[in-house]
Amino acid sequence: PALSPVAVLGLGPMGRAMVRTLIAAGHPVTVWNRTRRRADNVVSAGARLAATPADAVAASDLVILSLTDYQAMWDVLDGATGALAGRTVVNLSSDTPDKTREAAAWAASHGASFVAGGVMVPEPMVGTELSYVYYSGDTEAFDAHRATLARIGEPRFLGDDPGRAQLMYQAQLDVFLTTLSGFMHATALVGSAGITAEQFLPEVMRLFEAVPAMMAVDGVEKLGARIDAGEHPGEAGNAIMMGATADHIHATATSVGIDTSLPAAVRGHYRRVIDEGHGTESWTRIIEGMRGPQS
Ligand code: NDP
Repeated sequence: PALSPVAVLGLGPMGRAMVRTLIAAGHPVTVWNRTRRRADNVVSAGARLAATPADAVAASDLVILSLTDYQAMWDVLDGATGALAGRTVVNLSSDTPDKTREAAAWAASHGASFVAGGVMVPEPMVGTELSYVYYSGDTEAFDAHRATLARIGEPRFLGDDPGRAQLMYQAQLDVFLTTLSGFMHATALVGSAGITAEQFLPEVMRLFEAVPAMMAVDGVEKLGARIDAGEHPGEAGNAIMMGATADHIHATATSVGIDTSLPAAVRGHYRRVIDEGHGTESWTRIIEGMRGPQS
């Protein structure tokens, strides 16, 4: 049987990779892009180029957007709202959770279902086994298109709040970007004594491999359950002990004369929990102080 048609609007690196993946799987794909020549490549691969966003939307029940941000969605679809009724818009562009909720209400006002998504892999990995994508929004519409969306990457559905997928995407990148900053700062730190990045990188990779065991001595599930219960037993690494290390890192960065902003932030997290009288609890106690409004 013929596979369901898909419309893809936005042909940056991610959009083009999605189109190639969908075509390779056998889906008829209609594309549109503001800059027309960026479609050349996927048209040679078998995509049909629509003349307008409205024509692209009209070609498929499933309309995938891969644009810079949500404003671009409104720029592209404001002239195509007449074609939206009954269709499912899956927006795989990045933005804030609030924008995705606004977009869901906007889509509903034009009779369309809305699903937000965040692709967790870079362009070369789209459509591979390593690819996964967080989705949230209209559950029924998502289920109807799950099999098609699974071509792009393993779908991980997070429920009907359209903001959740974006929040999960950002949370993952929060960890990733902070980790990269830690790596870069540490490279500058060892560089002050002549240790090269080439020497340092393999050492860091060893640490990365050990992180799951170091973070969660008796398993990730138990650690998560304890945090959710507000329990922070300090036997395995309390905030005073970890905070002393944070102090040393800050002092060393200061003495070798490199950037101290990141160590100062980390030191601040430990100092706060110690000052509040929770120093003998686990480092996870810091999360409680991070929740809610900050003075
Ligand atoms: P870009 O973020 O560069 O988005 C490019 C697309 O958006 C182009 O098709 C561009 O059109 C279009 N666009 C931007 N503004 C407008 C506008 N006002 N009106 C019409 N079209 C507009 O490309 P990527 O493919 O890299 O990323 C797409 C999305 O995926 C982004 O939100 C990104 O954060 C996210 N993402 C990217 C990853 C990556 O590795 N690149 C990984 C995971 C997620 P034109 O060609 O005419 O400029």
